[in-house]
This record gives sequence, C-alpha cells and structure tokens, in this order.
Amino acid sequence: MEFTNVNQLPRSTLRTLWTRFAFGARPGARLGAAGLNRRKFVVALYFPSMRITDVDAVWLHCPIPPEQQHVSDFGRITSFDMTLVTLATDTGLTGYGEAKAGVGSAAVCASLVTCVREELRPLLVGQDPREITRLWERMYNGPRDHYALARGRAFPILGRRGLTVAAISGVDMALWDVLGKSLGCPVVQLLGGACRQAMPAYASGGWADEAGIGQQLLGYVDKGFRAVKMRVGVMDGHVDASVARVRAARRALGPQIKLMADAHGTYSAAEARRFCDGVADCDLFWFEEPVNPDNRDAAAEVRAYATMPIAAGESEFTRFDFRDLIQHRAVDVLQPDLAICGGITEGRRIAALAEAHQLALAPHLWGSALSFAAGLHLAFASPSAIILEYSLGANPLLRELPEEQVEVRDGMIAAPVKPGLGVTPRSEFVERYAVRR
Ligand SMILES: [Mg+2]
Repeated sequence: MEFTNVNQLPRSTLRTLWTRFAFGARPGARLGAAGLNRRKFVVALYFPSMRITDVDAVWLHCPIPPEQQHVSDFGRITSFDMTLVTLATDTGLTGYGEAKAGVGSAAVCASLVTCVREELRPLLVGQDPREITRLWERMYNGPRDHYALARGRAFPILGRRGLTVAAISGVDMALWDVLGKSLGCPVVQLLGGACRQAMPAYASGGWADEAGIGQQLLGYVDKGFRAVKMRVGVMDGHVDASVARVRAARRALGPQIKLMADAHGTYSAAEARRFCDGVADCDLFWFEEPVNPDNRDAAAEVRAYATMPIAAGESEFTRFDFRDLIQHRAVDVLQPDLAICGGITEGRRIAALAEAHQLALAPHLWGSALSFAAGLHLAFASPSAIILEYSLGANPLLRELPEEQVEVRDGMIAAPVKPGLGVTPRSEFVERYAVRR
C-alpha cells in the first residue's frame, strides 16, 4: 500500500490521523513512537478507526404563534415537536437525526427520548458508525441479532412497529449523516448518486374553507409552486363539503397546476368512493390516505374504484408494512416518512419495492429539517421518486432549526450537495426549545 492517494482523503480525516500520529492521543499514534510501523500507519491512513462515543436524544417543543396556527382534523396546531437524535464519535464528527412520535406537527416525545437513551444507546456506544446495516439489524433484532444474521431473516424484538422503530429511524439518520461527513460527500451520493439535478416540489397546506381555498392555494402558486396539496376529510363535516372545496380549488387554479387532496385516513370506504365521484373531473394528481391505513381492504377497494392515483404510507413502519400495502393493491404512490418507517436504511428498501412494482415514491416530508433532508436525499437517489413535499404550514423546525436553508426556486429544489444530510441544528435554538425534565 502506498501513500500516493492520501490527498484524496477528506481534510478532516487527514487532520485527525496526523494528530494521532504526532501527539499520541490514540492507539494508532503508537506508530509515532519508537518502532514506527509504516504498514500499520498507512492502513490507519486509509482505514481510520471510528467509534461511537455517545448517543443522545432531546425533545424539542416549539410553540406556534396564534396568527400562524391552522386547524385540521388534528385540532388547532399550537406546536411543532420533534425528537432530535445526536450521535457523537471519537473523530469529532457528530451525526444528527430525527425520530417522530406523531405523523403530524405536535407530539409527546418523552418516550422516544427514553428509548434512544436507555434501549438503543447501550447497543451503539463503542461500535463503528459506518457499519450502518449491521447496527440497524442489531437495534431491530435485539439479543437475537446473531440468529438473524446467521439465518438471513429478521428476528425482531417486540417493538417491530411503533415508537421503537421510530427511535431506530432517528439513530439511522444520524449514522448516515456521520458516514457522509466522514467521506466528505452527501448522503445521496452514498445511495448511488442523484438521478436528477432538481426535482419539483409541491406546496403542502390547504386548510381554508370553500370560499377561501382558491386564494390560499394561489398564494402558494405565487411563491413559484406548480403543485399544491389541500386537506379534506372528516374536518369538513360532510363529504360533499370536501368535494365543494376541491372543486373551488380547481376552478381557482386552472388546469395547469397539479392538485392533490389528503384525507388523513378519515373517510370510510363509502365516503371515499363518494368523494372520488364528486371530484372525478378535477384531475387530482393523487388522493392521499382516503381511509384508515390499518384498513387495508378498504384502501384496496378505494384504489380499485378511483380513477386518480392513491397515495399512502406516512404512518407505516418498515418495509414489511409497505410490502403489505403493495400486496393488497392499495396504493400507487408510496409515502414513507423516514423519521417513522426505519430511517434511510429502511427507506432505501421501500424505494426498491416501489421500483420493483413500478409504483411512485413521494416521501412524507412534513417534519423538521432532518426528516425533510433524509427524504430529500432518498428521493433524489431513487428513480421512482416523482415529487417533493414542502410544508407551507408554520414549521420552525424546518426553517429556524437548521443553519442551512432549503431553497425552492420556481417550484424546484436542487439536489443536495453538502456532506452528510447537510443539516446543522443551531445550538441556541435547541437550548431554547428543549424540554428538560
Ligand atoms: Mg398526508
């Protein structure tokens, strides 16, 4: 092995290695003492060790000013919450991830904080953060991990759905973030590279009543978006009221703007069919979560009846839930939320399912800048991804938490280029909104 390619290593890696060599702060620095072993030093240069030194989580609770709050079937949204996962390494690199306790804006994240600290942290400290798949399986399979790896199939612990998988999601994101930073490249590159230079985004909002919905959505169009999503469902009282709102929206937007409707899983199958009839000539780009996601048969019934594509998946866990959705023929557009479904590792498996079944992928990006970034990197890397969600609700975790800002220009978002996930939480923001107990 020769020194010739040393300059290709990231500067941060070189700095760390030379420091070790010069000052003897690490095991590898013994090479600098008498008895220098040139071969071991070169190996250390090419394959520097990296270990996880700590994993922590904090619940961030951000109140939303009254004038920016909206009302949906979830009630008046008075806060946006997240679980921020931080993964520290002995190289000085830190990874960040997000775990979700709720699919919407507000949530109680105390259980997730405990899960990360008490259940997952002991499995991770001392491990190499670059062995992401191995660590994912370790968190998922628990003490039977060695059986799982030997047999080639999962032996999950009890929490193979729910908050445990959400907690794993946050850790997984942080692992990918560290790997990208250690190599000086964005996560999308680790996933095979971006399939396109830019992707269209849709403005996600649309809570206004029949009289105001057109103006509200046109406000999004004025910001450059060529696709918009509105909320429908039980919050409208009767299906016909939802139909009237969608028809008003289409009239205001004209035929060129893509329009989606999201029922948050609140219709019965009969109501969803009635809705489909009522908006049949509105050219919906998709109809999202018509029915309760646990009612797979009803979802399949609606999909078979509808003439527009059906989107779903934001509250599903793991590739197994998405496999079931697909097998039930219940969905056209898969919407994994990477802070819920199992992180980027599971997201890429779900993307592969979409690709194998000729279905579309549109990750659920309603969350903090971290789950947004994770879904963004995955979407750019997957040929099945068609469009990106961009929240137009009040969301300080998307726009005020990070040092970096995502730019939406003429309704398009450019492929990410910063190392890792490219999201640096501002420490003063974290301090201000952290829930300390
Ligand atoms: Mg939705």
